[in-house]
Amino acid sequence: MKVTTDRFSDSVRQALGDAHLQDAFGRTTERFQAARTAAFAAYPEGEALRDLAREIKAHTLSELDAYLARLADAVEAAGGRVHWAADAAEARRIVVELSESYGARKAVKSKSMTTEEIGLNEALETAGVETVETDLGEFVIQLAGETPAHIIAPAIHKTRGDVAELFAAKLGSPRLERHEELTLEARRHLRDAFRRADLGITGVNFAVAETGTVAIVENEGNARLTTSLPRVHVAVMGMEKVIPDLASLAVFLKILARSATGQKASSYVSLLTGPRRRGEEDGPECFHLVVLDNGRSRLLADPVLRESLCCIRCGACLNVCPVYRHAGGHSYGWVYSGPIGAVITPSFVGRERAAELPFASSLCGACRDVCPVRIDLPKLLVEQRRKVVCDAPAARRRGERLAVRLFAFLMSSAWRYRWASRLFYWSSRFFRKQDGWWRPPGIAGWTRWRELPVPARRSFRERWRS
Ligand code: SF4
Repeated sequence: MKVTTDRFSDSVRQALGDAHLQDAFGRTTERFQAARTAAFAAYPEGEALRDLAREIKAHTLSELDAYLARLADAVEAAGGRVHWAADAAEARRIVVELSESYGARKAVKSKSMTTEEIGLNEALETAGVETVETDLGEFVIQLAGETPAHIIAPAIHKTRGDVAELFAAKLGSPRLERHEELTLEARRHLRDAFRRADLGITGVNFAVAETGTVAIVENEGNARLTTSLPRVHVAVMGMEKVIPDLASLAVFLKILARSATGQKASSYVSLLTGPRRRGEEDGPECFHLVVLDNGRSRLLADPVLRESLCCIRCGACLNVCPVYRHAGGHSYGWVYSGPIGAVITPSFVGRERAAELPFASSLCGACRDVCPVRIDLPKLLVEQRRKVVCDAPAARRRGERLAVRLFAFLMSSAWRYRWASRLFYWSSRFFRKQDGWWRPPGIAGWTRWRELPVPARRSFRERWRS
């Protein structure tokens, strides 16, 4: 998937002016957030499980090479094949070559952020393989020619009316009014795609090193059809998705659904170990697992940012983020949005292409509070900011450095502080508007959306003395 070259600030300006989008994002994220809060409130063990999940992830990352090797051995022992992809181009090449080797003409896909990350659909279409997204939200945005706007709810920005119009335009459906009618219409098209597909492509929520099992979590049953009807199943996973054993999987399954949608458990959890065995009625004849690096090794080597590899892509941090809720997912310019997107995107696509993202946060800490694996997202955002600032050419930093030095100069002596406070007060009087608020001049980028109250005539220190 390509990175848009639009600046985050420009995209946000557009999003803020779109009342329809503001309404759709506000309502849905609020619903997810309320469901998550209720789910954990009714689950006292949840907090201890979050700690345990974090420990498992940290431990696995500390021995990632060993766990990946064990996973590969177990997958091959179960009759599957493992492919290693250093970057997106290599992962695309592997999947395209696999489709060619099987003579595949039609592929069905279940929702996968990793395949979005590598731009797989475009590569398959170019190679002449018709590719159909089978998750309902993904199906909608594929028809619309758009990209996912949320990690777990890709069509979060579409209303029922939008989808009805889209189906009428792209599928030739009559104008449908009810959710059930729209779902049935999508199902009618998807059933046909499932029947004719040679290749089923999925992501992976967790890959169990002990057994070579991939776990796929979903609510619609489309991933189960994708992995059982076509002759070949190709699963694409980021290398951080490996976990040690089935006992660890049980921990993650208990917190993933609660964090994502507030469910106690997702409707379908498929545990797949290799291809169909003798005597089994369904399942693919061939199973391939593509393990993707694409910048993850860089993150792993970073003592601060490696924490971001603990992410289980639940989307909870997006739902509580005041910036995401107004900016929407597309403003982030790439596949991952919200706080976790602002942390990992600069490392994946290059800081020069995503320099604004780490600054798209108020650092309120709401994302850290809800993260099921307790990733300290504000700390990681600040670290990415530090890297962006250090990367910037000296000329661009000169103004900021001067401002900080001036501030330090004024704050480091009592009389200079008093003098600056008086100057601040008199400036506010001079620029005061009729409603009693004012905007300090010379910092328009900051004050365009913010006003300050005029300070009291006598400072706290003066009152205290008297
Ligand atoms: S950072 Fe945490 S809250 Fe955000 S998507 Fe990842 S696991 Fe979920």
